[in-house]
Amino acid sequence: MAQEAFTLVGERIEPGTRRQVDVPVAKLYTHAPMHIPVEVVHGRQPGPVLLVCGAIHGDELNGVEIVRRLLRLPNLSRLRGTLIAVPVVNVFGFVQQSRYLPDRRDLNRCFPGSEGGSLGSRIAALMREEMVDRATHIIDLHTGAIHRTNLPQIRSQLRQNRETQAMAEAFGVPVILNAELREGSLREYAQNRGVPVLTYEAGEALRFDEWAIAPGVRGIRRVMRLIGMLPADSRRRTPPPAEVANGSSWARAPIDGILRPRVRLGARVAKHQSLGVVADPFGNDEAPVVANADGIVIGMSNLPLVNEGEALFHVARYQEIDDVENAVESFQSRYETTGF
Ligand SMILES: [Zn+2]
Repeated sequence: MAQEAFTLVGERIEPGTRRQVDVPVAKLYTHAPMHIPVEVVHGRQPGPVLLVCGAIHGDELNGVEIVRRLLRLPNLSRLRGTLIAVPVVNVFGFVQQSRYLPDRRDLNRCFPGSEGGSLGSRIAALMREEMVDRATHIIDLHTGAIHRTNLPQIRSQLRQNRETQAMAEAFGVPVILNAELREGSLREYAQNRGVPVLTYEAGEALRFDEWAIAPGVRGIRRVMRLIGMLPADSRRRTPPPAEVANGSSWARAPIDGILRPRVRLGARVAKHQSLGVVADPFGNDEAPVVANADGIVIGMSNLPLVNEGEALFHVARYQEIDDVENAVESFQSRYETTGF
């Protein structure tokens, strides 16, 4: 079967070609038009339609660089199927260096959206009609929030879809978190339609973390090989299957004060272990931040100034923790994650 042209907002992309398309989204107060920049790589042969998108939270930048590098891979000329690559979804948040939209809504809580709804709802509807509903597979790129960093991890609901599980394993980061769906998220919407969808979470907002970007690009390539978009590479070995964490919890600040962490990102921790201390500026009145489960630190705050109750260390719980610890250590030595 021959591949047909792909059309995005009326622009035709012929088989065997690629094209950058500005998808009009809204106007600024000045009436300067705002666009979502999209590149479509349309293979000569039919195949999966993969949507890879970054910065649905406008301040989460690692995905922007991941998409840029993905689009420079030389073997995209041999692509089977179609890659829809969107470096910046939330263009409003991006120019403001903000997670949110101008009305303070979270675009990743606005799906499926509607054409007559709020700004977020309208952008979600546009994104859905032009891109999400046409994708057979989706990879959504995120980072931790501002002042928070994440160990590279895949979040997904694995048991609902075998292909999702295979994609998560192929991605090749040591931590897979079997995560609940957030209402209104792109992931919830896509999964309810039966489309395999991965969320890649890595690094910190408003940063380029090389140890988050490089494994992200590599992971997407591996998924593209798995689903037949890129030729298999027999020289490369597949990563050992990652252990799946079935839950996670946050260790919170016991008091207001200044945090001195005692563990780094990726550390193995035990229940009741002190992960850091919070104290006054002299170090008086120290109070420990206590882990409430055995697990691996998959996210942590980078800001030493904390309020009581603030989430400081994100710990993923595992059944077989030794294997995860080894996998995280070898991953970190490869990508030189310092974590602090
Ligand atoms: Zn995010």
